[in-house]
Amino acid sequence: MKENATKNNLMEKIVSLCKRRGFVFAGSEIYGGLAGTYDWGHFGLALKNNIKQSWWKKFVDNRRDMYGIDTAILMNSKVWEAAGHVTNFADSLDGKKFNTMLKTQVGAKKEEVAVSYLRPETAQGMFVNFKNTVDAFHPKLPFGMAQIGKAFRNEIAPRDFLFRQREFEQMEIEYFTREEDWEKYFEYWKGEMLEWMEEIGIDMGKIHELEVSDEDRAHYSKRTVDFEFDYPFGRKELFGLAYRTDFDLKNHKLDYIDEESAEKIIPHVIEPTFGVDRAMLVLLLSAYCEDEKGGEIRAHLKFKPSIAPVICAVSPLLKNKPELVEYANTKVFAPLKAEFGRVIWDDNGNIGKRYRRQDEIGTPFCIVIDFDTLTDNTVTVRDRDTGEQERIKVENLKSYIKEKI
Ligand code: ATP
Repeated sequence: MKENATKNNLMEKIVSLCKRRGFVFAGSEIYGGLAGTYDWGHFGLALKNNIKQSWWKKFVDNRRDMYGIDTAILMNSKVWEAAGHVTNFADSLDGKKFNTMLKTQVGAKKEEVAVSYLRPETAQGMFVNFKNTVDAFHPKLPFGMAQIGKAFRNEIAPRDFLFRQREFEQMEIEYFTREEDWEKYFEYWKGEMLEWMEEIGIDMGKIHELEVSDEDRAHYSKRTVDFEFDYPFGRKELFGLAYRTDFDLKNHKLDYIDEESAEKIIPHVIEPTFGVDRAMLVLLLSAYCEDEKGGEIRAHLKFKPSIAPVICAVSPLLKNKPELVEYANTKVFAPLKAEFGRVIWDDNGNIGKRYRRQDEIGTPFCIVIDFDTLTDNTVTVRDRDTGEQERIKVENLKSYIKEKI
């Protein structure tokens, strides 16, 4: 009972921190909200962009065998018929099948109006561009396509903050291989997924692999491993890895011709899929810490500097002293901003309050310009995790931060 209260409390603390510090707001809030939708504030968006950039760098930019793509959210409804979603993309509602695709219509004139769906996964946008990609880039097997984008599901019960929403974002890879190689690449992608989770700072002690049973697998999959996380509300899916066989390419009547042997084959697909919003929630849960400083409980987010929304905050000790403000602005803030981008100016409230605020945003370093700075060109750099302060020469600041990150 007590343990449950602490766990629920953690979610409440994170939701309230996200609002207070401008990470995430409830969608349409001033009109009473719209269940399963959220709006992203400045720092939440920065964190989300860092997650996506780190993913894109690892899985697209750093590889030779991956082709990025960005496809339309609205697609011809025939895509969803061929993919099996019109019949199978459903949850159970009072024992009946309830299709969770969000239906809409396109076209203005009565005779032109056609049913369309907001895509429930980004995957189909890649499959329908398989031929375009092969024709444009002539890739050899195995190769992959990668996409980051919004997906929509009319979830029966949206809940648990960012965990189950009706509008969310996915990062997906479709990796095309010869049938006989699928097991090898399934294992390979499992390793890659785990490596990236660790890289961005997910608490790996809370990650568990679940071999999804026959009854629970999606209609297109012959093998699925879910990566689950111990959320405060239970052990549930974070990301998934599916062997989609040749199901999709076959249904879309697509194939591949090996340019050397002229052999015609239907490649098989390994699909690593990542939810951006669940990644964000899990990073918040992994980074959230409380300790005691000066008799007060201090909440802070221990993000890795590579993923933190802000790398450092620059503060003149007093905002009504023009000489401090001028120095802080021209000699510290401007050059650091030009170098790192994710640098903010914070002169609001006393220094203690600024530190608390930056701790909650997860800023690894706070730099304070005081009267000594004006004579000896040194500043105080305060470390988020230890609370320790060091005096650093202004000319060494860039290299000091670079070394730390
Ligand atoms: P669940 O079993 O939790 O409903 P799923 O198996 O339907 O998830 P997939 O179809 O595999 O999910 O979607 C791929 C990824 O998209 C998931 O691993 C998850 O990270 C994310 N995702 C799916 N549904 C949602 C949602 N409603 N809100 C936020 N993220 C989601």
